[in-house]
Amino acid sequence: MAAIRTILVVGGGTAGWLAAGFLAKTLGTQGGGVAITLVESKEIGIIGVGEGTFPSIRGTLSVLGIDEGRFIRECNATFKQGVRFNHWVRPPGARGADHYFHPFSQPSQRPGGPELLPYWLLGAAGDGVPFAAAATMQKHVADMGHAPKRTGDADFHGPLNYAYHFDATAFARLLASHAQTLGVRRIEATVDQVKLGAGGAIASVVTREAGELTADLFIDCTGFAARLIGGALGSPFRNINDTLFVDRALAMQVPYDRPDAPIPSYTISTAHEAGWTWDIGLHERRGIGYVYSSRHTNDDRADQLLRQYIGPASDGREPRLLKLNVGYRETQWVKNCVAIGLSGGFLEPLESSGIGLIEAATYLVSYLFPHDGNLAPAAKLFNAQMKARYERIVDFVKLHYCLTQRTDSSFWTDNADPSSIPESLREQLAMWRTRAPHRLDFVTDIEMYPPSSWQYVLYGMEFPTRMLAHPSTLPDATAARREFQTIAQLSHHALADLPTHRALVEHYRRQG
Ligand code: FAD
Repeated sequence: MAAIRTILVVGGGTAGWLAAGFLAKTLGTQGGGVAITLVESKEIGIIGVGEGTFPSIRGTLSVLGIDEGRFIRECNATFKQGVRFNHWVRPPGARGADHYFHPFSQPSQRPGGPELLPYWLLGAAGDGVPFAAAATMQKHVADMGHAPKRTGDADFHGPLNYAYHFDATAFARLLASHAQTLGVRRIEATVDQVKLGAGGAIASVVTREAGELTADLFIDCTGFAARLIGGALGSPFRNINDTLFVDRALAMQVPYDRPDAPIPSYTISTAHEAGWTWDIGLHERRGIGYVYSSRHTNDDRADQLLRQYIGPASDGREPRLLKLNVGYRETQWVKNCVAIGLSGGFLEPLESSGIGLIEAATYLVSYLFPHDGNLAPAAKLFNAQMKARYERIVDFVKLHYCLTQRTDSSFWTDNADPSSIPESLREQLAMWRTRAPHRLDFVTDIEMYPPSSWQYVLYGMEFPTRMLAHPSTLPDATAARREFQTIAQLSHHALADLPTHRALVEHYRRQG
């Protein structure tokens, strides 16, 4: 076993540059560190979508050493406090709530105070107050157009939890320039062939422009092409289209109506007859896309629906059609090759799992790094953890669909059909019919989404939990009621303290 001295990252999208930069920072590239090279193809280019993130991105940017202001300016970025789901429970025009919110802030809990969810289920927040509105002030702040932090707050910190929306191409560019300052060497070339050595590990990749490149460890970041992990090593792809149906996207970028238009600090996800639209506000434009199931509609109808959603701003613009491989490889680390990004898998972008999974895979490679060259145990652990992560994300995304009350199209009735729901999710839903979900239902280090995210979606989708716990086990109703009142009062005060979202973004942009 020889120590790992060289890493070749193949592919320069978000996955490639994020992995290269993070590994350079955490493993070191100078005297005694690891030599990291990234090869990317000018001809093939990057996918260039992926504009919504999860709060974990702040930790990643901070470790990389990219300051928040630079990131906001160079990536046309804005703040994201959560996701607003329109018409997921019932179609437009039906009686009942027309949307719910998944905020990133956890439900309030004072030291020694009660956990709020069981009391909310018992009605302590009052009738008709959604859990997300009762348990944190974030929904109110976001609804009123305010930001999650103040101009004087430190980088990556604020009173409310947040992530970002950004321009994916600009983000890859920023990561690339930063990774090179951390010592990553860049080669522009297209890989034509992957050579295997004795024992089936990768010996080298053969490029058109830069000859043959060798390394001790290869990281496959070639996107959906998966040239190394799929093409050369044949790691099977598990398609999950029988659970998550959407497999196409039509994406378009449109300007704001006026330059000072308010910018929503949340992704707007609106359910439609055969899928849903994302609507993301960046500083200078909106990114909008319709993600749909080709089994339940066709591309022409999807184009029509996207244009209806956008209105006149779509006139004269052509959307980009993307065909999606929905699923993942159960084995993402084979011999001396690790897949990170779309080469490892892709789940639909409903809760921005793509970049979160890139971050998770990168942390695993970095912190479990087999310095002594003993790859097999690290690979085993990596594969088990990534597979478990994907399985949990599939369950979480399916949760958004399977509780719908919509019966207005086969897309929705098929989604609620129990045969399309993974057994693991069905088992959890069965338990939560008579008790509140608890953090012990979740294995923290495997989950991308914290228990509160599950709770916000579960009760946003109006899941019926009939609490069977004996009343004596929930003795804190008075304290819980008081806490709900405090949150409501603080929500109003917070507006005086927090700038509007556009004002905060403009503040960072002026600093450049
Ligand atoms: P790519 O960007 O495709 O990069 C592949 C790289 O490999 C390129 O540099 C290319 O040049 C190189 N390459 C390929 N073949 C070769 C070769 N033979 N030789 C040399 N180089 C090669 N994620 C989120 O987190 N949030 C979202 O909101 C979100 N929305 C999405 C919406 C859609 C419609 C889609 C499809 C994805 C979305 N994602 C989202 C996922 C996200 O876009 C990806 O996870 C992310 O962009 C990483 O892509 P990548 O780097 O793996 O692949």
